[in-house]
Amino acid sequence: MTASFHDLGLAPELLTTLQSLGYAEPTPIQAQAIPPLLAGQDVLGQAQTGTGKTAAFTLPALQNLDANGLQVLILTPTRELAIQVAEAVHRYGSGIGVRVLPIYGGQSYDRQIRRLRKGVQVVVGTPGRTLDLIDKKELNVRDVRYLVLDEADEMLKMGFIEDIELILKTTDASERQTSLFSATFTDTIRRLAQKYMRDPLQVSVEFEEATCTNVNQRYYVVQEDQKVAALSRLLEVENQKNTLIFTRTKIGAAELAETLMMRGYPAAAIHGDLSQAERERIVGRFRSRDLTILVATDVMARGVDIPDVSHVINYDIPQLSNEYVHRIGRTGRAGRSGDAITLVTPRQRRLLKMIEDFIGKPITRSKLPDRETVLQRRESIFKAGLLEQIGTYVDGSDEPLLDELLAMGYSAEQVAAGIIKSLRAQQTQRPLEEIREVTSSRELPQQRAKKSGRYGSHEPGMVRLCMNVGRSNGLRPADVVYSIASKANIPGSVIGAIDIQHHETYLDIPDSHVDVVLHEMKHYKIRGQMMKLARANERERAR
Ligand code: AMP
Repeated sequence: MTASFHDLGLAPELLTTLQSLGYAEPTPIQAQAIPPLLAGQDVLGQAQTGTGKTAAFTLPALQNLDANGLQVLILTPTRELAIQVAEAVHRYGSGIGVRVLPIYGGQSYDRQIRRLRKGVQVVVGTPGRTLDLIDKKELNVRDVRYLVLDEADEMLKMGFIEDIELILKTTDASERQTSLFSATFTDTIRRLAQKYMRDPLQVSVEFEEATCTNVNQRYYVVQEDQKVAALSRLLEVENQKNTLIFTRTKIGAAELAETLMMRGYPAAAIHGDLSQAERERIVGRFRSRDLTILVATDVMARGVDIPDVSHVINYDIPQLSNEYVHRIGRTGRAGRSGDAITLVTPRQRRLLKMIEDFIGKPITRSKLPDRETVLQRRESIFKAGLLEQIGTYVDGSDEPLLDELLAMGYSAEQVAAGIIKSLRAQQTQRPLEEIREVTSSRELPQQRAKKSGRYGSHEPGMVRLCMNVGRSNGLRPADVVYSIASKANIPGSVIGAIDIQHHETYLDIPDSHVDVVLHEMKHYKIRGQMMKLARANERERAR
């Protein structure tokens, strides 16, 4: 039995946040690293992206946070990672109201210095800019009690070793708890650990190699609200024998199974409210092909022995890369071939990239079957069924009816056509919804060109949005970035120009993220004000 987050000793506020994020249980690196970090021990962790390492070092930092002053410093190799980690700190600390600032090169010093002067508790920085700000006496890291070197191997590859050592020397070693996370351990990393860490506890997650060489891995980019339509199309054209579909939540699993049943598929979910015996019974029906589709969450699928399947479908892309490997390992076993299909919404492309990095190879993007293909496929299935009937027709019990019809003067062709028509009418008509194609980011420029204008963005690929909150409400750019990045779960770095005016604010959001931002920010309060967000040109037209 795996430990729960509660067993690891985390505080109630953090547990509530984790629950609201839908994290069912700690990942291996979290289970191993959180207890010693909470106890104040130095930790040397071997873990790559996608294992949940960020939460592993962030949660203990948040739990031990005091009200004032800079206490936590996290060093990361790149600006993107600094922003991502700062977003994670913000997200995990949403229950306790943490003040965190990412600092990195390429952004003006002024902005970062202003924020630092206002006071922050956590800084996530790239080594170069962090050192610059220390030299300028704008960043005082002497009292940092919790220091993390994230992706240490990458930082060293980028030549940051001297900067890192200088930063470490500036902090008070006797007060400092240090942890280091790295995908690989080189001699330099070991030396660094020996020199600056106190008797570190070494933890590691087994490196899981994706051995699924005979699995055909594909992904499809679809909008969240079109996933059922996309899945339906795939189920119609794939040659699946038995399919295991993964969803993120158990409610999602039950709902999807219900939808598929309504569409005439023999599907069932193994969900949380079932006893072990009931789950086993459903899996038994799946094994005997009474059911051909099983819908499950990662946790649910773990406790039962599911047979090899022809298709694994990630209806919801897994958050954790090793979970992806677990999931697709359910197909292509014992030398057989298998298909692993992942539905990815535009905003989840980052997760996909993380999985690709983790498994060390790209996953092929595919195009959903078009209406024509689905209709042709339906027709060929219908024809095959008809031919089967014709081929196996042996008993003569229907001959009197046939003779009667022919005697009435109908030709054999007319009778056959009538029968085919009535058979068609009996077929279950599955819905075949329209699907809006999601263009890849490379295809966007032509679309973008059309959109610029006074109230459109001037930057290619960006759409200008307008919201009803501005300077008069005390709004600052950082509020905009953090609110949108955390609520809509997009990287803050992709948000473009922000123009805060007296009563309203204009901001640029990449085309590919606009729908999700508009959808997620519907009922959101910012600076105490209910936020109304719309495309700038639409707002203007509505006036
Ligand atoms: P990381 O390896 O830190 O980059 O995390 C990878 C992804 O896993 C992030 O999107 C996290 O939100 C997600 N994640 C972290 N911990 C858990 C967990 N215990 N359960 C589910 N998802 C998680």
